[in-house]
Amino acid sequence: MKIWSMLLISPKIEFINTNKKVVSSAKKSEEKNTKSVRIRCPICGWQPDGKAYWGCEKCHCPPFDTFKTHAHCPNPKCGNSWTYTLCIACRKRSSHEDWYVEIGD
Ligand SMILES: [Zn+2]
Ligand SMILES: [Zn+2]
Repeated sequence: MKIWSMLLISPKIEFINTNKKVVSSAKKSEEKNTKSVRIRCPICGWQPDGKAYWGCEKCHCPPFDTFKTHAHCPNPKCGNSWTYTLCIACRKRSSHEDWYVEIGD
């Protein structure tokens, strides 16, 4: 009769803390998009009053406010867009982007 010596195996279990904390890189001063934008003619300073002054020479759609459509024809079938916007007051053309001015610091 053999006597089995019981071998107690107690494996060393190392609990390795792998919980790496993901340190998010310091956020750069968040610029909140709260700057309001004013629209005015870069030449004479006329401010559009939201009325439909502009028309499309391509599809001759009803007049529209080109600042609501961001210089795009409101007619989806037309797809016309303009780089320059005609001022209703001074009748001069300026780059559409030049009409937008940010107010604030
Ligand atoms: Zn103007
Ligand atoms: Zn059009």
